[in-house]
Amino acid sequence: MTNKYYMPTRVILGDDCIVKNSELFTTLGKKALIVTGAQSAKRNGSEKDVKTALEAVGIPYLVYDKVMSNPTIACVYEGATLAKENGVDFIIAIGGGSPMDAGKAIALLAAQAIEEGNLFSGNYEKTVLPMAFVPTTAGTGSEVTQYSILTNDKAQTKTSIVTDLLFPTVTFLDAKYTERLGVVNTINTAIDALSHAVEGMLSVRASNVSDALAVASIRMIMSCVPDMLQALRALQAGTEVVLTLKQREQLLQASLMAGMVIAQTGTTAVHAMGYSLTYFKNIDHGRANGLLLGVYLKLVERVEPDLAGRILAAMNFTEAEQFRELLNQLLGEKEEISSEEIKQFSKMASQTKNIANCVVKPTEDDLRAMLALSFAQ
Ligand code: NAP
Ligand code: ZN
Repeated sequence: MTNKYYMPTRVILGDDCIVKNSELFTTLGKKALIVTGAQSAKRNGSEKDVKTALEAVGIPYLVYDKVMSNPTIACVYEGATLAKENGVDFIIAIGGGSPMDAGKAIALLAAQAIEEGNLFSGNYEKTVLPMAFVPTTAGTGSEVTQYSILTNDKAQTKTSIVTDLLFPTVTFLDAKYTERLGVVNTINTAIDALSHAVEGMLSVRASNVSDALAVASIRMIMSCVPDMLQALRALQAGTEVVLTLKQREQLLQASLMAGMVIAQTGTTAVHAMGYSLTYFKNIDHGRANGLLLGVYLKLVERVEPDLAGRILAAMNFTEAEQFRELLNQLLGEKEEISSEEIKQFSKMASQTKNIANCVVKPTEDDLRAMLALSFAQ
């Protein structure tokens, strides 16, 4: 088996890194479209810093701030039309995975005409607008992946545009933008990053390079878990415990590294099933993965104990059950799932490419059992 490692995105980290590197924007183009969600980029200072940097180097911009969570196909076509009508020649996406994924699709659609029916085909011309990304959640790693994941109503799931064209040109990581991310969002997104690192190690495409990044990412996230749990308990008790900026930096860098992992390995059965939980039950992406991850690792532990053991060692655990219990604490009370839903979601997941990507390939029966166990209180 051969392996490859490809990650063409320039990564810039640190306090005030956007404003300190304003000149970089002049290498991307002459007019920018800033792509964000409705509120958070305005509240956490990231949009202001981007505007300050653009103004410092005389680059005009406009803002498309209509990206919703789990962005739709209509949203990215709307953003691309705005970009084309205004002669924009590069994209700056600010936010969580949703604005970043939308920003990628907008960069693609503004540079070439793609019919909706061909959007996920993978057959594109070799043009895309340059992209600068500012992640403000520490979870998806979209700032260093070649995936744009959109809500696909025709397929009743979330579907990825996958092409190396979608690697952002540059990404700026400044943890201060994540400081006011709420406890539940912080936990869900951290679990998403953890899931990327763990699933990367469980992928048939894992390599020594991706495993090294994954193990480091797992360790960094796990080092923040006790304080995340404390913050969750404080929230439940009506008080507040906040993570330190240092911890926010750890989580943001761990998420970056886990993104670098899945850019090489793809994801596995956990994400395959998670998409149905998000599409049909409106369960947050990271939380959906968290519900499934512990149960899947238990299956891996039975079939490939050495592989599971390496992942658990990075967490300082000896058994997958310890990890499942920890996830249960982080997730709190679970949603309900019907037997019809279990049947439907496991059938859908069994037909995805993610299953072929698993070292331990669950059967449809395994998927059914995993879904049922995932929702057990
Ligand atoms: P998100 O949907 O981008 O954002 C969730 C919520 O968090 C939004 O309400 C957002 O508000 C808010 N928010 C963002 N940053 C904040 C901050 N710093 N402070 C306070 N609130 C903030 O959530 P996400 O979990 O980051 O992204 C999930 C999406 O990423 C899913 O669509 C998933 O499929 C995708 N994903 C992509 C990849 C990839 O490789 N491309 C990998 C994993 C997941 P605003 O709307 O106001 O901004
Ligand atoms: Zn994910």
